[in-house]
Amino acid sequence: MSNFASSVRRMVKRMSVPGAPTRRVVVIGGGNAGLSIAGRLQRRRGLEVTVIEPRTSHVYAPLQSHIAGGAARASEAERPQAQATPKGVAWVRGSVTAVDAERNAVTLASGETIGYDDLIVAAGIEQHWDAVPGLSAAMADERGISNYTLPLAAKASLALRDLTSGTVVFAQCPEPASAAGVAQKPMYLAAEWWRAKGVAGDIRIVFVSPEPSASANPAVSAELQRKLDEYGIETHFSFDLLDVDAARREVTIGRGIHRESISYDLLHAAPPQRPAVWIAEGGLADADGFVDVDPQTLRHRRYSNVWALGDAAAVRTRRSGGAIRKQAQTLAKNHADALAGRRLSAVYDGYTVTPVTVSRRTVVFAEFDGDDRLQPTVPFWKTLYRERRLTWIFDRHILPQVYWHLILRGLA
Ligand SMILES: Cc1cc2nc3c(=O)[nH]c(=O)nc-3n(C[C@H](O)[C@H](O)[C@H](O)COP(=O)(O)OP(=O)(O)OC[C@H]3O[C@@H](n4cnc5c(N)ncnc54)[C@H](O)[C@@H]3O)c2cc1C
Repeated sequence: MSNFASSVRRMVKRMSVPGAPTRRVVVIGGGNAGLSIAGRLQRRRGLEVTVIEPRTSHVYAPLQSHIAGGAARASEAERPQAQATPKGVAWVRGSVTAVDAERNAVTLASGETIGYDDLIVAAGIEQHWDAVPGLSAAMADERGISNYTLPLAAKASLALRDLTSGTVVFAQCPEPASAAGVAQKPMYLAAEWWRAKGVAGDIRIVFVSPEPSASANPAVSAELQRKLDEYGIETHFSFDLLDVDAARREVTIGRGIHRESISYDLLHAAPPQRPAVWIAEGGLADADGFVDVDPQTLRHRRYSNVWALGDAAAVRTRRSGGAIRKQAQTLAKNHADALAGRRLSAVYDGYTVTPVTVSRRTVVFAEFDGDDRLQPTVPFWKTLYRERRLTWIFDRHILPQVYWHLILRGLA
């Protein structure tokens, strides 16, 4: 029934501009970025918007951190893809394996080829669990947990809740990554839980991060360090997760010639991440493998009918859902300008955000620009980033509703 309704809407849209050719816009990826931009573009006349997406369910990733930390249920984070896809947008279930930007066509794993007038790449970033020897095997056993997939987050919730003694290692992954700092979220939630249960004294919490401090911004870093100290979390900054021995329950961390082994009872790890290889094979990538767009306009530097946003785009800022909201606004406006033959008028300013839950009631809402300088949503509220109840309510309760009802429909 909903497919029928979508077809009728598309027909009506085509009829509404007599004689005007319909422009085919193909969006690769029906995640946060793909659906946000598809929702915006489908409201414009003369565009036929198709999203190519292999998954049948859509996950709101930020909730995975709350789930892992025991502050949300897994069912809250997931909806059927068909329901999440904005009305009027066609969904092709499939995976793109190649882009031919010279011929304006993409090829799917099924062998099918789909042509386009405009292409928007919103395929996210791939999780590369095998980049750390032993990490995949460790995640497969009961002591391996993470907020980076929904099943592992659900496993984390129970494992962290039931632990009463031992050592827990939380490992943040290196950049490039999707919101790397959120690996800390379940750590603070669990630390507070253990304190409330009276078992904190029997649990050693170890935080391993490739970064030199808890955040790239000094003010945010100081705020998070205060919480690390408050919970008695042992920190290993500028250390990489090098190897995991799941059988012995031991991680090796280090950098340069320095090596250290830590035995664990639970390992909470974020996977290393990388762009998809077909982006580079299609000639769309920059030197790092991300889609080579102008970070301000989001238009491809070589192919004027190719655009990108979200985790797949080379935007020179930290990747986040908050960043995508601004990018979708920019891309939609610039796409309209391009079709009208105008100068591209919208500029993405590099805004990004890493909200870190530091207790079950408070969040450090860290908003930055592309140079890691504070960029609060509420102008002149320079201390908005500080631990607050208000930002917890926003992150835990308001944003998920805004996401499902407005962001994915291209309305926010
Ligand atoms: C655990 C976690 C917590 C986070 N917390 C926050 C937070 O608190 N605040 C915040 O602002 N951001 C947060 N983020 C970041 C935010 O969720 C991401 O930046 C955002 O989801 C990226 O959107 P995207 O559409 O670029 O990628 P995705 O949402 O990953 O979507 C990409 C889509 O493309 C599809 N795809 C991939 N390859 C292909 C292909 N070959 N063909 C067709 N489709 C393909 C995938 O199936 C996927 O559905 C978090 C991320 C994670 C992982």
